Amino acid sequence: MACIFCDIVSKKTETEIVMEDEDFVAFYDIHPKAPVHVLVIPKKHIASLQHATKNDTELLGKFLLAAQKVAQEKQLQGYKLQMNVGKEGGQEIDHIHVHLLAG
Ligand code: 5GP
Ligand code: ZN
Repeated sequence: MACIFCDIVSKKTETEIVMEDEDFVAFYDIHPKAPVHVLVIPKKHIASLQHATKNDTELLGKFLLAAQKVAQEKQLQGYKLQMNVGKEGGQEIDHIHVHLLAG
């Protein structure tokens, strides 16, 4: 299964990493829509929020804390989190991600 975000997780694609821990990777959006535009993704491939299950409950909680960690490390005073879900919701990449926007 080809997934460009899985390729970033596996380092098959060279990308500047903003934050990485056991379960998540954060990196800059290639087409930034704000002065700070970071994408936070779980290392586990989940196509979208619609594909998450009860088994992902803990991961989904940690997901928000991973975004919080990026914001703390970048010393952001405030920020927006956006998740697009499904084609109709504006999702282009089928690997769940949250946009962290600031500035
Ligand atoms: P979506 O529309 O799926 O919520 O957001 C996908 C985001 O991924 C877009 O903002 C797009 O600019 C970004 N993006 C697409 N391909 C790449 C890539 O290869 N590298 C990085 N860093 N960002 C990407
Ligand atoms: Zn993936």
